[in-house]
Amino acid sequence: MVKKNTVLYIVVPCYNEEEVLEETTKQLKTKVQTLIRKNIISNQSKIMYIDDGSKDNTWKMIKDFHQKESIVTGISLSRNRGHQNALVAGLMTAKEYADVVISMDADLQDDINAIDDMLEKYYSGCDIVYGVRNSREKDSFLKRTTANLFYRIMKAMGTECINNHADFRLTSKRVLKELSNYKEVNLFLRGIFPLIGFKSEISYYERKKRLSGKSKYSISKMLNFAIDGITSFSVKPLRLIILIGFIIFTITLLLSIGLIIQTIKGISVSGWQLVSLSIWFLGGVQMISVGIIGEYIGKIYNETKARPRYIISDDLNEKKRRREKNDK
Ligand code: UDP
Ligand code: MG
Repeated sequence: MVKKNTVLYIVVPCYNEEEVLEETTKQLKTKVQTLIRKNIISNQSKIMYIDDGSKDNTWKMIKDFHQKESIVTGISLSRNRGHQNALVAGLMTAKEYADVVISMDADLQDDINAIDDMLEKYYSGCDIVYGVRNSREKDSFLKRTTANLFYRIMKAMGTECINNHADFRLTSKRVLKELSNYKEVNLFLRGIFPLIGFKSEISYYERKKRLSGKSKYSISKMLNFAIDGITSFSVKPLRLIILIGFIIFTITLLLSIGLIIQTIKGISVSGWQLVSLSIWFLGGVQMISVGIIGEYIGKIYNETKARPRYIISDDLNEKKRRREKNDK
């Protein structure tokens, strides 16, 4: 394989990231330029920012970078659609231009030096390289415990998910082409990539603290993300309801037999506590069950509407292409 013809796009979703964008661009630029100089990637390689409907100066900064140097490009979404959708928008746009795409966060928590290793694995025949952090020591206690719990539940629910892998990953053009066939509105990328298959490997890296600014993931966003992840890939929660139903049914059967025996023996049973408790208990179980079923119905509802995952309001790649066309 002639390495220097490989076009790399680094896709970076950004939501209100004006504080970090300057430094991120500086570091990523140095990285990409070094790789170009070493003939590892083509000089058409770029850093592509996705402005996820930021309310600050993020998009203006991206346009400025693009104007100053062609190594930076970007797209802007019509409104905030969340990290996963922004990422999909970036990947789907980048696959039109690039042979290989690496996605990472704007806050430089992902170690950009892992990019070399990822590319090496790509050249040795891998189509997906998962960036996996080697420890979670730098995370807050809350984030660490919730993340561990999340991976454990995902595994118990039978979803293939790479432990401690977020969205720092390398994907080849053909993987992205396959990804575009996954039409579900509610995309949970971390679970989809293992499903797509192809040869994959893991690149370990140390995840740092956020460069500056605050995490854009609130507790409620994280919780929604986790529920989405589980219900998008597994119907095990539904089976769990059946199991709970069976357990309660069996217990009740045994209790009834006990009561009948007691009645035959003439032992009087005062039953009102048991009756009211079981009404509340069953009421709770039923509500949870209906809730879980509702969650899946909600999913079906969203999927049947098939609304677009994102709308691109501005595309610097497109503009550049048009300008080049006009120049000819
Ligand atoms: N992000 C986004 N849209 C959102 C929230 C976050 O594009 O609605 C981006 C954000 O700019 C960052 C990445 O997703 O590049 C990861 O977000 P963050 O660093 O806040 O999450 P954490 O690292 O705390 O999980
Ligand atoms: Mg972060």
